[in-house]
Amino acid sequence: KGKFVINFSAGPAKLPASVLAHAQKEMLDHQDTGVSVMEMSHRSSEFSKILNSAEHKLRDLLAIPQNYKILFLQGGGTGQFSAVPLNLLPLKPSLSADYLVTGSWSAKAAQEAEKYGTVNLVVPKTKKYTSIPDPSTWKLNPEASYFYYCANETIDGVEFQYIPEINGVPIVCDMSSNMLTRHLDINKFGLIFAGAQKNIGCAGVTLVIIREDLIGLAMKICPVIFDYQIQAGNNSLYNTPPTYGIYIMGLVFNWIDEEGGVKKMEENSIKKSNLVYNLIDSSEGFYHCPLDKDCRSRMNLPIRIGSLQGHETLEKQFSEEATKTGYLQLKGHRSVGGIRVSLYNAVTVEETEHLVGFMTAFMERNR
Ligand code: PMP
Repeated sequence: KGKFVINFSAGPAKLPASVLAHAQKEMLDHQDTGVSVMEMSHRSSEFSKILNSAEHKLRDLLAIPQNYKILFLQGGGTGQFSAVPLNLLPLKPSLSADYLVTGSWSAKAAQEAEKYGTVNLVVPKTKKYTSIPDPSTWKLNPEASYFYYCANETIDGVEFQYIPEINGVPIVCDMSSNMLTRHLDINKFGLIFAGAQKNIGCAGVTLVIIREDLIGLAMKICPVIFDYQIQAGNNSLYNTPPTYGIYIMGLVFNWIDEEGGVKKMEENSIKKSNLVYNLIDSSEGFYHCPLDKDCRSRMNLPIRIGSLQGHETLEKQFSEEATKTGYLQLKGHRSVGGIRVSLYNAVTVEETEHLVGFMTAFMERNR
């Protein structure tokens, strides 16, 4: 890699350099098989090893109990917006689910679920997502088939620092942008899904972790590739899975393990996000974060410059200087504007310090 860059993309995002180097080394000839992983039959014993070792490593990293299946599917997070209601709405005769909308992605998921059943919005709709309403205000339906939320809203930066307590109703969680970045008690969930392209690999593969007793009631109209029973019964090999993506994911799992596991990822996330938030909080109104402090994301940090609504020329100047410095993808999502810093697992503490140095100097020159 020649050019100096630091990749702060919200996804697809930075991968650990050692993972890319490893993949490069065996790109043409995977462990003396004479072929690339891309050229292997998904039913070969070589690929079986890749799939099984990725699954075992993940089970280890998150202490996933045996009564949970791990699936490697196609279709992205968006595919799972449909797969979840198609598979889980029939868990109760109500064909109704509770959706806690705290940002753009959970809003999209709720909209998709409406095609297949009744969606109960647990909190009132809002235009801006900057907080998580207190659980005591949530209007839960005890007859709901499942309760759905997004652990980290990639666009808005709303992240849960706790797992909701929902009596008796299975919890479904979109962890696309904070999977393997913090400790989790898997037993609290019915289903977790995550696209790979932020913390755990490259685009094309979506991870699903599902409790076995929730499998097997899919609606008749559920497309076969999204039917959890069929995918689980075939060990994700009903049809051709995203083989290369699964291979890269396995390498990322090994990397996380070598680095010190989820615990280390969590420590680093706290350290990195605190570096940026501490600067914002001590900037005397130069930098702003629109979020309530208790739900500020460690992964995707939305920032405004000059004022809470953002000072247009300052933000433009910041973007230009950041690009010149070699920072990639610091622009906020078009729906919220401003700056967004994404600090996924592969972004190092040193890289974050580099950015904070730049932000400090920018502030001193322009306040
Ligand atoms: N959920 C979250 C939290 C996301 O960030 C994204 C993508 N950025 C999605 C779902 C949708 O994933 P995909 O683009 O893989 O369909």
